[in-house]
Amino acid sequence: NMFDALSERLSGVFDRITGRGALSEKDVDAALREIRVALLEADVALPAVKDFISKVREKAVGEAVIRSVAPGQQVIKIVHDGLVELLGGDSEPERLSLEGEPPIAILMAGLQGSGKTTTTAKIAKRIAEREKKKVLVASLDTRRPAAMEQLAQMAEKAGVPSLPIVAGQTAVEIARRAMSSARLQGFDVVILDTAGRTTLDEEMMGEAAKIASETRPREILLVADALTGQDAVETAKRFNERLKLTGLVLTRMDGDGRGGAALSMRWVTGLPIKFLGTSEKIDGLDAFDAKRLAGRILGRGDIVSLVEKAAAEIDHEKAEALAKKMAKGKFDLNDLRDQLVQLQKMGGLGGIMGLLPGMNKQMKAQAAASGFDDKALKRQEAIILSMTPQERAKPDILKASRKKRIAAGAGVGVPEVNRLLKMHIQMADMMKRAGKGKGLPGMPGGRM
Ligand code: GDP
Repeated sequence: NMFDALSERLSGVFDRITGRGALSEKDVDAALREIRVALLEADVALPAVKDFISKVREKAVGEAVIRSVAPGQQVIKIVHDGLVELLGGDSEPERLSLEGEPPIAILMAGLQGSGKTTTTAKIAKRIAEREKKKVLVASLDTRRPAAMEQLAQMAEKAGVPSLPIVAGQTAVEIARRAMSSARLQGFDVVILDTAGRTTLDEEMMGEAAKIASETRPREILLVADALTGQDAVETAKRFNERLKLTGLVLTRMDGDGRGGAALSMRWVTGLPIKFLGTSEKIDGLDAFDAKRLAGRILGRGDIVSLVEKAAAEIDHEKAEALAKKMAKGKFDLNDLRDQLVQLQKMGGLGGIMGLLPGMNKQMKAQAAASGFDDKALKRQEAIILSMTPQERAKPDILKASRKKRIAAGAGVGVPEVNRLLKMHIQMADMMKRAGKGKGLPGMPGGRM
């Protein structure tokens, strides 16, 4: 689909930053450079890209991220949030404003071929069905009788009445007639499909502006073809200078474009995207949802929700203290236990393993079989809890008799105690190496 190429590029960037425990500022910058190129190649407007990157960078290079337990995941979450913001924020999907004295007018504007007539019928159907409103549609395209005929047919498919066609009237006259017959017949909403041209011209804009001042629409929606990329953005900008647009509808989101229009539209025009056209069919209309679209583009919803969940629970003071210890090359069993607890909070190894790049089902099964499942985590914690404070701080003193006592206390066998100690040595070693660099190492699961 439209965002496949972009998704793939971003996925590669994310794999590179989550495939390692530590991230430096340089790593983050390298990732951001790649993201920048990916966005530009997706035809996102340059100023929007610049703004996006600088906002993301500001948040992503901070100590709190780089030194966190899972820096790569944090960066993904920040990119996600930036994308949601670029798309219009994570408010609820935009709704049409239909309150007020009926009949309420909705004006549809756009270039010819943008999908304006189809979208008019789609929105009419949606309002009739979901809002239980009485909706009338009217075509104001006096120059193209075929366009009027087309709206009448589409409306029929939508199960919505259309204003009878009367030859010889001007667009403004038709608009007036639509409003007055709606008033007489008790319609709640009138959707006016204005004439489109193949290019932007003053006459078309002037006519639409006149109709707007006549009918005082609650919504003036611009329909733009997402496949036309930056041209659609430019069109929206120009229309918005002339008509006080209230929102955008992007059609042909089911096509093979590069997605740049959808990603720049909001930023460039400041207008909310209200709907996305997703097929030629009458039901092919989705309410726009910035969060959902960002999730679709990034394809890392799991990471985002995990980081959100963990953010509330991760103990930054402990992480700081651990970082200091590690810098000195110390990582005792108390620290290991903290890490295990942290891991459990983040959904256990199972959850984290699913986030690791290149982890397929088979590898996960192998990891589980080797004892790294969530139950094993709990047992490992129990083993550490069965030790004395002295043993936890200095595992070197653990000889056979102590191990036996600990194993019995935790309800496991001695081999499992040995495995834990071996894992601890490996991790301490790995952390010593990572600690010599700048960042904090990732979760132990990240190295499996
Ligand atoms: P208008 O000239 O702006 O009124 O455009 P139309 O409504 O006549 O649409 C032009 C063509 O685009 C028609 O063939 C529609 O079926 C098609 N179309 C409109 N919206 C969409 C959409 O979201 N997806 C796809 N694939 N086709 C669409």
